[in-house]
Order: sequence, then structure tokens, then C-alpha cells
Amino acid sequence: MIKEEYDVIVVGAGPGGGQCARNIAKAGLSVLLVERFASFYDNDFSSAGMSLQGFEEFDLPEHVVGRYWKNFTLQSSNEISRWTSKENKGVVLDFAKFRQFLADECVANGGDVLMGYSHISKEYTDDDKIIAHLESKKEKKKLAIKAKLLVDATGSARKVIYDTIADQPEMEISAGVEYMIKVNDQVYDRFKDDLFFFLGDKWCYKGYSWIFPMDNNVLKVGTAKMLSKGLKKGSESLKQITERIIADYMKAGDAEVIDVHGGTVRSTKNMSESFYKKNIVAIGDSISSINPLGGEGIRYALRSADDVTEHIIGYITKGENTFSKYRKKWRKKYLFTWRLCYYLTETMYHKYPDDKIDNRIKKYRDLVDIDQLINILFEFKFNKMFRRVLSFLWNRVKLS
Ligand SMILES: Cc1cc2nc3c(=O)[nH]c(=O)nc-3n(C[C@H](O)[C@H](O)[C@H](O)COP(=O)(O)OP(=O)(O)OC[C@H]3O[C@@H](n4cnc5c(N)ncnc54)[C@H](O)[C@@H]3O)c2cc1C
Repeated sequence: MIKEEYDVIVVGAGPGGGQCARNIAKAGLSVLLVERFASFYDNDFSSAGMSLQGFEEFDLPEHVVGRYWKNFTLQSSNEISRWTSKENKGVVLDFAKFRQFLADECVANGGDVLMGYSHISKEYTDDDKIIAHLESKKEKKKLAIKAKLLVDATGSARKVIYDTIADQPEMEISAGVEYMIKVNDQVYDRFKDDLFFFLGDKWCYKGYSWIFPMDNNVLKVGTAKMLSKGLKKGSESLKQITERIIADYMKAGDAEVIDVHGGTVRSTKNMSESFYKKNIVAIGDSISSINPLGGEGIRYALRSADDVTEHIIGYITKGENTFSKYRKKWRKKYLFTWRLCYYLTETMYHKYPDDKIDNRIKKYRDLVDIDQLINILFEFKFNKMFRRVLSFLWNRVKLS
């Protein structure tokens, strides 16, 4: 039963929204989590790869893991580099089960979940509250639910905090497409333990592709590009690139296609969008929390939800509006690194010629082991020399 009023309505049951609702419910506040899709399998869009460190940070159960990975492989146009390990180094989440778990946790702690309803508009009230207007097209039903606070967890759409796209600041746009395929044992054995990436013009012109493993002979194969950089005229679509990798590289053209999904990520380079407005606060991709280099976004959506929780509790229980502190802290933690990641992304995908990418990959293979590589790619723990280069680049970024 959905109530007429809540302390908090969280709009969007992605990783950010689910975690936020889970936290708020655990804190004993009344919360409603709203999601426009009726089932998490209807928008099962994310590859959902993470490092083990990332996974262990959020008290998540084993059953949301699609598969553990041990090795990391980079295939460029002419080189292949593989970093191996005997231990698990990360996970590929079952993205639908993972979001279902967060929603279930919200309910288990006294919160409510409303699936299949879209947030359409908001209305401020005279008693400093806010009404969320929700609609289910399928059930032809409309609801108006009151709250003290709305959380915009609608991802890149930023549907709650902004009334229209025209109100939003300039965005960098990336798109990704992914095939979930069931392959034979021979193909599966080649890819079942690796987080596998393709770089370089041969496989994905000005972008990157990947193969991530799940259990039961299932692989996620996808391609992503930054669209705002412009694509080569007549170049292949993301689907065509992915299908070519499946057929030519994996020799799995006869694989059963279980699902084809994808999504668009829209981020500001300077985290310049609104983090809060009156009694609305935004989290996850709505505040450009996703890392631009490899598109890792789940961990940061979860972290933003964890970071905002104390401010939400303060707002509801004491009437304190400290959301400016949440924004300040977030930007202090990530803006510098994210700007550098943008710079590296643009250099790696758009400026470097193929042979330079081959050479870089070869060099890294000799220089770092798998733990150092994970520390660089997932934790941004660059060594001293590299840090010096980074601060030089940062100064250039600041000047540009
Ligand atoms: C193809 C692809 C592959 C990716 N692979 C990885 C990966 O391997 N690892 C990783 O860490 N990250 C990956 N990401 C990024 C990651 O999935 C996102 O950063 C993360 O999901 C962001 O979480 P979020 O909760 O902020 O937003 P989202 O996950 O986008 O969730 C927003 C939710 O809000 C709902 N919603 C939107 N509008 C409304 C509305 N008006 N009313 C109600 N509900 C609404 C949406 O349906 C959605 O469920 C990938 C992204 C893409 C597109």
C-alpha cells in the first residue's frame, strides 16, 4: 500500500536510488522508491563490472554476483596483454538481481517500492513540502504523493531536478550497446575468467569494446563511444562493431542472443549541474558521478548515495539543509581525478594513433602486475612519476 505522504521519495531505482532508499529506510525514516520500469529485467543495461574492493565496500550478498573475474586482458589492434591471477580480482554483477536486492532491502527495513511509475512533474507546497506527480501509462493511473524531500536518482536523465533538458548545462555524451550471449564451452573457456577490453582502431574506432563473463556460458559483449567527439563518417554503428567482435574475434557468430541492451551516459566535465535545489537533492549519474575513463559508474552512484544519507537524515530530523556541504565534499574528492580521466579518455581514444596505443599497452604489460593495474584503473593510485605527469596535465586542463 502506497501512502499519501513520505519523509523522502527517491525517484529512480538504479544503484544510486536503490542504495539511498536502503540507507534511509535503515535510518528509520519513511521512504518511497519509485521506478519507471515494472521490472529490473526490462532495463538490464549495465555490464556491471567492478573490482573486488568496490564490491566489498557496500555489504552486498553473493547472489547478486553474475561471476567473479581473475584476469585482465587488453587487446589493441596489434597487441594483446594479459595480467593473470589465481585469486578473484573482481565481479560482474547480475545488474537486475543487484537492483532488486537494494529495493528488497528498502522494503525489509520498512520502506515502500513503486515499480512501473514515472515521475512526471513536481509541485512545491506552501508548507515547504513537495508533491511528486507520478504516472503509470500501462495501468493508466496517476498518483500525487507528498514528501519533505525528493531525491533525483534518475541517472543521466536528471528528470526531477530539471524540468526540461534545455535547462541542463552542456553535457558530454557517451553511448554503449551490449549483447548478452550464450556461447559454447569452447568459446566460454577463453573468456570466462577475464575482464577483457578492446582498444584501437581495428576493433573500435575512437572508442572501446569489452567482453565480461557471467555464469552458465553467458558473456556480455559491448561497445562504447563518446558521441560528442563526433564519429568518423560512414563508420560502423556500435551494434555492428559488437557483432563483428562476436563473429570475427570470438568466433561465436552462432551464439544465442539472450538480450541486446544499452544506454546513454550524459555527464558534465566539471560536475557543474545542480546537486540540490530547494527540497530536491541529486545523486549518482545525475551528478556526473560516473568515471569517464572506463565508464565505471556503479561504485560511485552507491558512494554518492552513502555520502548524501547523513545530510538527508539531518534535513528530515532537524530541518538542517547541508546539501552544499555534500556537493563541496563530493567535488573535492573527485573533480580533479575525473578531469584527468576526461583528459586521458580524449587522448587515448581520440588523439593517439593505433601504434601508440599498441606501444602503451606493451609498456604497461612489462611495468605493472595485476594488482598495480587494478590500483591504477579502479583506485587511481598512480605511482609518483605518473602523479608528476598528472599534475602537469592538470595544470594544462585548468588552463584549457
Ligand atoms: C552499456 C553500459 C555499460 C556499463 N557498464 C558498467 C560497468 O561495467 N561497471 C560500472 O560500474 N558501470 C557501468 N556502467 C555505468 C553504470 O551502469 C551507471 O553509472 C549506473 O547505473 C548509474 O547509477 P544511477 O543509479 O545513478 O543511474 P541509473 O542506473 O541510470 O538509474 C536511474 C534509474 O532511474 C529510472 N528513471 C529514469 N527516469 C525516471 C522517471 N522519470 N521516473 C522514474 N524512474 C526513472 C531509470 O529507469 C533507472 O532505473 C555502464 C553503463 C552503460 C550504459
